[in-house]
Amino acid sequence: MIEMNSRVDILGVGFNNTSMDEALEYILSLMPEHKAKYIVTPNPEIVMRARSDHSLASAIENSSLVLPDGVGIMYGAKILSRSLKERIPGIDFTSLLFEHMARNGKSVFLFGAKPGIAEKAADNISSQFPGLIIVGTNDGYFSDDKPIIDKINEAKPDLLLVCLGFPKQELWMQSNADKLDVGIMIGAGGSLDVFSGTVERAPLGWRKLGLEWLHRLIKEPRRFKRMLVLPKFLVAVIISRIRG
Ligand code: UDP
Repeated sequence: MIEMNSRVDILGVGFNNTSMDEALEYILSLMPEHKAKYIVTPNPEIVMRARSDHSLASAIENSSLVLPDGVGIMYGAKILSRSLKERIPGIDFTSLLFEHMARNGKSVFLFGAKPGIAEKAADNISSQFPGLIIVGTNDGYFSDDKPIIDKINEAKPDLLLVCLGFPKQELWMQSNADKLDVGIMIGAGGSLDVFSGTVERAPLGWRKLGLEWLHRLIKEPRRFKRMLVLPKFLVAVIISRIRG
């Protein structure tokens, strides 16, 4: 069973040192408690933001599981000689979770992305994971939380997928956890865009080589500025290593 109390520090963000299977076992054990605990999957961009955004840092700290998303975090751990078992991209973890939930007839609510995307994702997810029950969808562009919380609570999903992008999704999960009647929640960034087929993921070979970021940059060159944070992250890690 996963060691919950100790986290591996990468520039102030504590990650759980867990394999994908251990994380899955842990999350499936939390689901029946129905306490709306939440999982976050920080990448280097989120770690860099959390250094100056204390509300994001505390939302991450208060989560039940912090999974390393992105090859950059794994390099960071290596440079700092800290051990992280494996990279766990939010979308891969979500797919694995869906697979297991489908076998047990569990339910999911898809929350986030532009209007229409969650519904398209629901169609694809239903055919990819027969047995999984999709109990509701809502887009991620709203001004009032209350009607969305009511809608989610009526559906009482085992899993709430929160895809609002960072830091919105982490802050939303933290501040609304005590109002929600859900098994668990996971902040999964742009996953609904991928499940809906709106955004294409890198081919498996690229992913295995840790080049998903390059594929994304080629497909969405407007992300170039955002991606400059990756070298900044590595420089900050190296400085942190030098300073001991
Ligand atoms: N999004 C949202 N509400 C907002 C801002 C963003 O639902 O107020 C969605 C956006 O439509 C996209 C996702 O959040 O589906 C963020 O995607 P991005 O690829 O930026 O996330 P990443 O996986 O890089 O964190």
